[in-house]
Amino acid sequence: MRRISRSKSPMFAKKIVDATRYAALPTLLIVFGAVTLYMRDSVLARVFPHYFLFLVFFAMITLERVYSYRRAVSQRHMIWRDLMSTAVQWFVAGGLMAAVVLRILHFTMRVYLGRGLLFGSSTLGPFWVQVPVVFVLSSLWGYGMHRFQHRNEFLWKLHGYHHSVTHIQTSNLYVSNPFDWALRSVLGGLLLSVVGFNPLAVVVAGVLGIYADFSHCGADVRGGWLNYFFNTPEVHRWHHSVEFPDDEKFRYGCNFGVSTTFWDVIFGTFYLPKDAQGLVLAPVRMGHPSGYADESNYLKMLLGVRAFPSVMRLFGSKKDLSPSLPSDIAAE
Ligand SMILES: [Zn+2]
Ligand SMILES: [Zn+2]
Repeated sequence: MRRISRSKSPMFAKKIVDATRYAALPTLLIVFGAVTLYMRDSVLARVFPHYFLFLVFFAMITLERVYSYRRAVSQRHMIWRDLMSTAVQWFVAGGLMAAVVLRILHFTMRVYLGRGLLFGSSTLGPFWVQVPVVFVLSSLWGYGMHRFQHRNEFLWKLHGYHHSVTHIQTSNLYVSNPFDWALRSVLGGLLLSVVGFNPLAVVVAGVLGIYADFSHCGADVRGGWLNYFFNTPEVHRWHHSVEFPDDEKFRYGCNFGVSTTFWDVIFGTFYLPKDAQGLVLAPVRMGHPSGYADESNYLKMLLGVRAFPSVMRLFGSKKDLSPSLPSDIAAE
């Protein structure tokens, strides 16, 4: 009797651990939702609104330590490049984009409409209607723009910097050319900000969009049914895969949703293969499909030298403009 219970206990413990792998992401969504609403008018949120980024990073890095990803490939450590990119997106790119775009929007609306918002909040329906409307519109922007960034040759040259990472992890969440990132993650929100939605509806919809941040969590956590609605790490790893099924609908990639996946499901670009037991498979290799090595020089990424060959003269080399062999990626 005692022997049986001994052999069962490791199995039981494994089941508990596996259950927590599924519980981690929905739990974080609830926790971050509660924190956002509770802290909304707090002194900390007013003085340092970026506190949220630190909380998200802390949670994701903790998950990466607790549930280490066994299929992780080693990636050259580029912490300064990662930190630089994160700082520029948060403290410069978003603000610059807002300053330019909002000024143009407000000027245009004042000239043609004589007011700063398209509609009054009350005319856009009750709060519980505005939340899903804002969420659907902002996620549609993210999906559409991201898909366009893969199709359009010029935009893909910029977006390709994000795809050059060989393993998704918290630190490379914001590794992108700033213009590429702002088009996908900032511009849609700025356009929605002048429609006239209830600000609290925008905040709540923003919390639902937090899976855009969780997508680069390098932990071995499971999405379960959330995979069909949110951009979980399991789903996003396939977006970074080097290989896709030989199917026209995946010609430019798969899983384009930034925070959600239901637009991919609706438009047929969702891809998430499973094994016989129903467990989600992991891509064999992640990286740039054309073989560009991960860009360690942040200045080159910032200037987008792959999209602007003439800028390359500043660096006195043209090797960044031609991809390496795909095997070079695996060698990292
Ligand atoms: Zn992409
Ligand atoms: Zn990514």
